[in-house]
Amino acid sequence: MSSSGMLFVLAGPSGAGKTTLAHHLVGGNDRTDFSVSTTTRLPRGEEMHGRDYFFVDDDEFDTRIRNSYFLEWAHVHGNRYGTDGSWVRNQLALGKNVVLDIDVQGAVQIKQTMPSAVLIFVLPASSKVLLKRLEQRNTDSGKTVEKRMEAAAGEVSFMGVFDYFVCNDELEKAKSEIVTIFLAEKMKLQTIGWPVQALDYHGNYMNGIDFWKGKRVVVSSGPTREMIDEVRFISNRSSGLMGVSLAEAFLYAGAEVVLVSGPAFQMDPPGPVRLVKVGSASEMLDALGKETKEADLLVMAAAVADFAPSNPVAGKLKRTDGDFSIALESTPDITVSLSCSCPVLSFALEYGETSLLRARKKMMKKGSHAIFLNRGDKPDTGMETACNSGTLLFAGDTEDVEIMHGSKKFVAFGIAAALGREMEGLSNG
Ligand code: ADP
Ligand code: 5GP
Repeated sequence: MSSSGMLFVLAGPSGAGKTTLAHHLVGGNDRTDFSVSTTTRLPRGEEMHGRDYFFVDDDEFDTRIRNSYFLEWAHVHGNRYGTDGSWVRNQLALGKNVVLDIDVQGAVQIKQTMPSAVLIFVLPASSKVLLKRLEQRNTDSGKTVEKRMEAAAGEVSFMGVFDYFVCNDELEKAKSEIVTIFLAEKMKLQTIGWPVQALDYHGNYMNGIDFWKGKRVVVSSGPTREMIDEVRFISNRSSGLMGVSLAEAFLYAGAEVVLVSGPAFQMDPPGPVRLVKVGSASEMLDALGKETKEADLLVMAAAVADFAPSNPVAGKLKRTDGDFSIALESTPDITVSLSCSCPVLSFALEYGETSLLRARKKMMKKGSHAIFLNRGDKPDTGMETACNSGTLLFAGDTEDVEIMHGSKKFVAFGIAAALGREMEGLSNG
């Protein structure tokens, strides 16, 4: 199983010490690379094309924006700067960590597209110190320094979007704090997947997971929102955790993973997972239509709303006295409407004694390859819980596989492995 790389974003006002700290982080770690940005600014001093920046003119920058070249880009102090998206994604997919030294607007954009990125805000002990450092750096004219100091106040107001704050007062202390953040993030279970030390406790539980290496897996996740007006909606209690856990499991198996998620509480897959955010059931259908074209598997873990208001209202409905009713219509059954060319793993949340039978019927009706049955009536399984358990059923002759109770991540690895075994024709032993 592969381990994913992490994206570290150092931001803060110009002169805060981002570049100094970024180079310290990269210098001490050969699995960590610095992202070289593209800018329309002219080179200054000893700066070299390809090492400090890729220096391009305005036309070339425009072309790159049109070609979706940038993971983020922003106007900073009168010039434009941007990060090469495919380079970053490739590095992360290779298990390498990437360090970005960018401005605050760019960092905020990254938090939206890659929520698992680690955002670190760097600031000297006071604005006076910042001014002194900009002057002593001696790379900018007096006018430019003034501009940068004015911009700093605006940048500091976005600090609440960040994960960490490092005060770059005493340089050695700031360096050690950056390294501590790096180490703590690398030890997070979300980052390391399923630790090898935990594998031999469950016999052959993970057998078959390698089947997914190099495959393209699309996972749908979370609830959908069916708007009543622009403020209220119909939805359900799905947290999105099962979908994110499945995305992680297939990623660590070595698959290329896309997570198409409704507005979930949990929507934070590891960086290399491509996140596509959707709102309603019909948006999810459109996104999955595009994403599954070349896929090897669609995992339908999303809890798609079955009904949507027939006539969503623009603006906000006024409160009225007395009864009020909303006309509803059925939403499309995504699996049936898609009629995907790849196998589909569906999910069923069922209550009561006939759950197995109903899950099997649902699998047949949807034409799915397999279905995972969670029982809504068992303690600590299903929606809004951290744990799960259930039964994996196959449309073919393969026997059902019971997945034992554990964290949703453990269950997700079990599902991916059992499906891999079945697809490879391995025994379930
Ligand atoms: P940024 O990349 O945020 O614009 P730099 O890393 O270029 O900032 O740092 C700005 C200036 O301050 C540089 O001249 C750098 O050597 C200096 N510097 C950085 N950190 C410290 C520190 N803790 N104490 C003193 N000078 C520092
Ligand atoms: P400088 O001109 O001093 O090299 O950089 C000016 C500012 O632009 C700094 O705050 C730097 O972090 C930021 N910057 C550099 N590269 C990028 C980038 O790719 N994207 C964004 N948004 N900002 C960047």
